[in-house]
Amino acid sequence: MSPHFITTARLDWNSQGTPVAAAFDDVYFYSGQGLAESRYVFIEQNNLVHRWLQHDSPLFVVAETGFGTGLNMLATWHAFIHYRQQHPKGNTQRLHLISVEKFPLTHYDLQQALSQWPELSTLSERLLAQYPVAVNGCHRLWLDDNVSLDLWLGDVAQVLPNMEAGLAGKVDTWYLDGFAPSKNPEMWTQDLFENIARLTRNGATLSTFTAAGFVRRGLTEAGFDIQRPTGFGRKRNMITGTRRSQPRKPYSEPWFWRRPGQISTAAPENTSPLSGSPTQHTVIVGAGIAGASLAYALTRRGQSVTLIEQGAEPAMGASGNRQAAVYPLLNSEHDTLSQIYLQSFLYGRRMLSPLMKEHQVAHDWCSVVQLAFNEKSAIKVANILTPFNCDIVLPLTSDQVNQRTGINANLAGIEYPLAGWVCPVELTKALIAAAHQSGLLRCQYHTKLHSLHQQENQQWQLQVTHSTPASNKVEHSSAEPVNSLLADNVLLATGHQVRDLLQTHKLTVSSVRGQVNYQPSTPTLAGLKTVICYDGYLTPQWQGSHCVGASYAHDQEALEYQTSDEQDNLDKLNRTLPTLHDVKPSPGAGRVSVRAVCRDHLPLVGAAPHKCQQLQQYQDMPQRHKESLPLPVDYPGLYVMSALGSRGLCTAPLLAEVLVAQLLDEPYPLTREQLASLNPNRLWLRKRLKGKPVR
Ligand code: SAM
Repeated sequence: MSPHFITTARLDWNSQGTPVAAAFDDVYFYSGQGLAESRYVFIEQNNLVHRWLQHDSPLFVVAETGFGTGLNMLATWHAFIHYRQQHPKGNTQRLHLISVEKFPLTHYDLQQALSQWPELSTLSERLLAQYPVAVNGCHRLWLDDNVSLDLWLGDVAQVLPNMEAGLAGKVDTWYLDGFAPSKNPEMWTQDLFENIARLTRNGATLSTFTAAGFVRRGLTEAGFDIQRPTGFGRKRNMITGTRRSQPRKPYSEPWFWRRPGQISTAAPENTSPLSGSPTQHTVIVGAGIAGASLAYALTRRGQSVTLIEQGAEPAMGASGNRQAAVYPLLNSEHDTLSQIYLQSFLYGRRMLSPLMKEHQVAHDWCSVVQLAFNEKSAIKVANILTPFNCDIVLPLTSDQVNQRTGINANLAGIEYPLAGWVCPVELTKALIAAAHQSGLLRCQYHTKLHSLHQQENQQWQLQVTHSTPASNKVEHSSAEPVNSLLADNVLLATGHQVRDLLQTHKLTVSSVRGQVNYQPSTPTLAGLKTVICYDGYLTPQWQGSHCVGASYAHDQEALEYQTSDEQDNLDKLNRTLPTLHDVKPSPGAGRVSVRAVCRDHLPLVGAAPHKCQQLQQYQDMPQRHKESLPLPVDYPGLYVMSALGSRGLCTAPLLAEVLVAQLLDEPYPLTREQLASLNPNRLWLRKRLKGKPVR
């Protein structure tokens, strides 16, 4: 079985209707008392309400081993709602929950288990509405405007070592659940305690229902001061602990450390309703899907943002096509790349659904069918199936392809049942509109960034020019007024143009020109029910036309429409699907844009690295003990999110969470390995690690 498969829990229900895990022969909670026990052991013994009031940050992070029925997490969220009602001005404004689960309950079992707690029914419904498919890795859920949950599916023994802790830990409170140590000895190990200590901030607390001596000793050794208060109900004792302030181990891969954002030195112009502490003022450059996702992720956290865009409106670059296929880029090894695309895709589906309804974004989750159109692609698609269950991808015979797609392709293939198409322009605009609702976003169109200078106080000064709105041009004459903006942090979401700036011109981003045809529908084409992918793609009709795409020309940036590309797109379509009876050209109907790509097909997300200085810092990388190497030199407060290729709609929402987590020093929804594979410095440093020369 693939190491990526997640096995769901097998439950028995005892005579009192309490769920019992068959594999562990242990209950998830005691009959009728689960909620009271959860409140006593975890919420009260960690003194949460008092700590929320006095916390030193607007965000409070609770982490747990063993999500089970989610009862502890729901009880904590419930207590947080009550605290917010009682203390709207209390220091903690947002709650972030993290829970790790090796054997998730099925949706049905979860619903059954939670139905015992009518007091929590509204919260249970919200959890159930977003409960993820059983895929390993982190699933970020927004349970409420100010409550998020990272549900990590996998074994804590693998998940925790790969969770990023920054330099000082990120967790404020731990709940150690996960069945009794006697029933689940594999989980309660010294490695677990050490990892918990690594992830925990100094002075943070933990609690657990067990009072086992080896747990107490192990936690003490890992760095906690331990107490033994009275346990719940008939239990004599339980354990609580406080993280000692003691020196931490050096950062294990210092060159991939992620520098947090800069806190404002000047008062922000907009005040934040969410944030109780100093806010950062951030300028985002570029109003495509990347910039819009960043604006949304930042403003929902109470940060004030200015979004500048050289064009007249959002999505005038690579995010400007009429329809985009949205599906994950998977492979048979389900390697880091495949994991990032799948987790991003699933996050986008969860996060965007309510937004797309509220802002009326044209889309259809009609599924995407990838055809086996020649021998090579047949092997490729067959292999993709290996690590996934049919919630993610399933095989189709040629008859099934014909039935699912509604056209006679007469080719076998695979289907991504959760996938479909979205109108990128409408989605980009919807994200910006939603960010506007916070009152914290200011947009400046017709505004082009020319250069960046960091001042002595570390703030960034942006030199921009404004074009006249009427001319709707993006080129600027020197006669146009030059202005400057100030920011603590600057996020460059400018696609391939990220290389236009002095600080970022050495980034490993290249340009790929893409041209898509807008093909008027025909009676046969109109029957298409899903997106079809081959060595091109075809979308179902929307407003009377289809997208047929797309060309892929490396290192080309010309925006003129080319009839040769138009013909190429049609040739590929007609070759793969001859039963469509020669789709004819519709001259000039289509669109050209330039995508930014990196040669390993992964985006660049993180601090803008100082390439020359980093190459010097790490020149003796392979020889030296890695933990003795310094943290990387980058441009403080300058960040990039680029190289999203043609898959920005799939990845941008989660990547924005990653970059914003870095900026605000919050927990990440990706593993350390996944974060490393997005780091803008990775290509040079991997060469350095292997002792190879870097240009
Ligand atoms: N906190 C849960 C709640 O509120 O419903 C109850 C947790 S239940 C007692 C223990 C959970 O730990 C089970 O769901 C079990 O599958 C999970 N678990 C056990 N061993 C694990 C491991 N090694 N890694 C991750 N989860 C594990």
